[in-house]
Amino acid sequence: IPVANYGAEDKVLVSIRVRPSEQSSAWAIDNVHKVLKLKEQHAKTSASAAHEFRFDEVLTGSENKPVYNATAKSHVHAAMDGYNAVIFAYGQTASGKTFTLTGDETQPGIIPRAMKDVFTHIRRTPTREYLLRCSYLEIYNEQIHDLLSASGQPVQLQGIGDNVIISPLREEVVTSLKGVRAVMERGEGNRRTASTDWNERSSRSHSVFRLVIESRDRGSSDRDASPVRPPTPGGPLLHAKEGRSVTTSVLSLIDLAGSEKATSDKDRTREGKYINTSLLTLGTVIGTLAENATKSSKSKADHVPFRNSKLTRMLQPSLSGNARISVICTLNPDSSAIAESTSTLLFAQRVK
Ligand code: ADP
Ligand code: MG
Repeated sequence: IPVANYGAEDKVLVSIRVRPSEQSSAWAIDNVHKVLKLKEQHAKTSASAAHEFRFDEVLTGSENKPVYNATAKSHVHAAMDGYNAVIFAYGQTASGKTFTLTGDETQPGIIPRAMKDVFTHIRRTPTREYLLRCSYLEIYNEQIHDLLSASGQPVQLQGIGDNVIISPLREEVVTSLKGVRAVMERGEGNRRTASTDWNERSSRSHSVFRLVIESRDRGSSDRDASPVRPPTPGGPLLHAKEGRSVTTSVLSLIDLAGSEKATSDKDRTREGKYINTSLLTLGTVIGTLAENATKSSKSKADHVPFRNSKLTRMLQPSLSGNARISVICTLNPDSSAIAESTSTLLFAQRVK
């Protein structure tokens, strides 16, 4: 398995995606040199024209394929090779997070493209057998909801240290793209019916699509079996067999709550506070992980505050260790959005 080059890359890949706009852009965007520069001084914000931001990738336009290739593809392949991988979309409401992750019919986003790559990888790797399970959940007001379960039972996080168990959580075995689509649609449907105000709720909650990937070398006896074998209902998943060990990894794709600052009285209440805390914690956690990854093994690693939010605690097993992380920050380039865009760019810098 060609895994050697994954470690050589940075732990966190940070990209900016600027959505198209009919208005005048406040930013000079140079996607060849991967730089964003503020065009002029803005008195209303702390942003000044001297602000120049450089990232791993700066992407513009409405094509989702180049975005997938630049920000997610290598992470998806790493996940197939046994590494945990997490991809986040961060940005203010209407800046393009859902367009980037989910997309639409003509421009499928990262999630459908990732799943397509996963099944292609499986077809091209006949020497291994794979088992895929997906789950879909939402974190709203620091409570986790299983979007694939109608029970409405709150989901808890248990376990110690890096070993976090999400329970109860419904996981569906998937064997085709069609199967994944059906699971996602079911989750999306539950998400809509559970909320009285869909727009409000979707901009105030994090949605997490999780794919657990198990694989094992095929023995000579089962070489002809189908690439993905569903287990018997309720039965065990892949087992180590005849000394062939099982590799397990998790790919998480996360559409974060809108990053905008409180604008109304309502926002300043509970929900606003929860969103602020969890996004702030996320920034600290990823920033610290990136920092720790650059330290030599002799110096002491900084404490990573995973437990300060449900999102980071839930992702602790995936973010720790050898994980590959991609943060895509979506930006509305309009002059009217300058304050929020600046704060998004500061977040992006903080996690690099
Ligand atoms: P968010 O999830 O951040 O709230 P959306 O993804 O829903 O934002 O985007 C808001 C609107 O803008 C949607 O109608 C979406 O189709 C459109 N949009 C966002 N980004 C792009 C883009 N890069 N190209 C074309 N349309 C986009
Ligand atoms: Mg959205």
